Amino acid sequence: MPRIIYVNGQYQPYHQAQIHVEDRGFQFGDAIYEVVACLHGHLADERGHLDRLERSLSELRIDMPVSRESLRFLMRETLRRNKLTNAGIYIQISRGMARRDFKFPKADTPPTLVIIAFPINFDNHPYVEKGVRVKTLPDIRWPRRDIKTTLLFPQSWTKQIAIDEGYDEAWMVDSEGMVTEGTSCNAWILTKDNKLLTRPVSCDILKGITRTAIEKICAENDITIVEQAFSADEAYEAKEAFVSSATGFALPVIEIDDHKIGDGKRGAITKKIYEEYCAYAEGLRGEQVKWEAGL
Ligand code: PLP
Repeated sequence: MPRIIYVNGQYQPYHQAQIHVEDRGFQFGDAIYEVVACLHGHLADERGHLDRLERSLSELRIDMPVSRESLRFLMRETLRRNKLTNAGIYIQISRGMARRDFKFPKADTPPTLVIIAFPINFDNHPYVEKGVRVKTLPDIRWPRRDIKTTLLFPQSWTKQIAIDEGYDEAWMVDSEGMVTEGTSCNAWILTKDNKLLTRPVSCDILKGITRTAIEKICAENDITIVEQAFSADEAYEAKEAFVSSATGFALPVIEIDDHKIGDGKRGAITKKIYEEYCAYAEGLRGEQVKWEAGL
């Protein structure tokens, strides 16, 4: 089936989908993005993702190209045209097209909106059982990591180093030796005294929408979260470790820099959080129905 991509008001065949070469996103990384999971036909945590999308736009001073309601429709329509029910939806909004210049273009420059839907096999995710092997590497990103911009080359570079050395993912480490996060996920460890550590929210990390959901899940399941930065050495000693993201949910980390984590298999708390998150993501249906009805 031919893939369809939404670009600035049009649904275009994959190989013909185009934006202008002087798009600010292309030349300056002057763009933000979001990724929302569609799980069994249901958009997981849509509200949280759209709230963060609006926040990213406002931090960069880019206007919403369409209303929030229209964006919700366009996401569903892109899924429908691609006949997808288990998928990721990638939304990118740039400051638009303008002659190349470091200063921002005129305020009435229309932003560029792209929506891409891609299949994900949530029912048989390769890393859920197998786990992820992580290498720690320096965090070389700009200091506003709280904004979900398309300035992703440092993460791409870092992940490629990890992959070239036989790992699946990288955890980035700040100048004090503390883990910030994964290249596209938040990092968690379970200490020997059963505290779940994750780095506090600040400009150093992206506040994951999945991370926020996991906080709620842990509160309901008597799992103690401590928002506290941890070092690679502390991570080596962890009972369990995992990464959270919209498309991976909660994937076990079984090895960090050649140190086996726990018994090298998915741990009980990671499994519990993964299962609860799946139920949470689909269980939002009731709340979303109310939201769609404008309540
Ligand atoms: N941290 C970074 C750097 C990310 O790129 C992502 C997701 O892309 C996350 C964390 C996880 O965020 P979310 O759970 O909203 O997908």
